[in-house]
Amino acid sequence: MAEKGILIIISGFSGAGKGTLVKELLKTYDNYALSVSMTTRLPREGERHGIEYFFTDKAGFEEQIAADGMIEYAQYCGNYYGTPKAYVEEQLAAGKDVILEIEIQGALQVKEKFPESLLLFVTPPSAAELERRLVGRGTESAEVVAQRLSRASEESEGIEAYDYIVVNDILEDCVKEVHSIVDAARKSPVRRKAFIKEIRAELKEFSKGAK
Ligand code: 5GP
Repeated sequence: MAEKGILIIISGFSGAGKGTLVKELLKTYDNYALSVSMTTRLPREGERHGIEYFFTDKAGFEEQIAADGMIEYAQYCGNYYGTPKAYVEEQLAAGKDVILEIEIQGALQVKEKFPESLLLFVTPPSAAELERRLVGRGTESAEVVAQRLSRASEESEGIEAYDYIVVNDILEDCVKEVHSIVDAARKSPVRRKAFIKEIRAELKEFSKGAK
């Protein structure tokens, strides 16, 4: 029996570079699958339905919640964001390591439901660098930048719930670091259940023979 994939949560302040990090992981290695979230926020320029997000309205989102179609969901800066269940379950069963790029309230819900998930928190080297990146992105108004920085300050209170902090300074290094953390996590007994079961059964057979 093959092992299931690892459910990987990647959180971090808005502007920490999570999106780019995830894109590079998917491009560089073939063990990952990315869950596409559903949101009620409006698409940014260039964002496509079904690629960056499934865009919907409040009623559509609430319908999904009612149908038990979400692994988790949360409100962030006035909009709903959530992870549709079906794709994640299929990919994990197929042995893929599934990445959820979600904020902290959702991360905590997933940790509660799936204690063997791996929680990574991505941060820039400093708050000044975070502000520089948010302003430099040019996709958000000054008001939204301020809102996201204040949200980052709140989110920093929850970092201890995560398994690892990853500092995203040089992207290429950060990608390798995340991949090596995932590889190490794969060796933890909580994620080697199929292997443990198999070797135990085999050992039992051998010990029978030895009697
Ligand atoms: P953005 O509007 O910048 O795309 O995303 C805002 C925040 O929502 C980010 O911190 C992002 O990680 C988070 N987010 C995106 N998708 C989900 C989701 O499905 N669930 C939760 N809980 N957060 C999400």
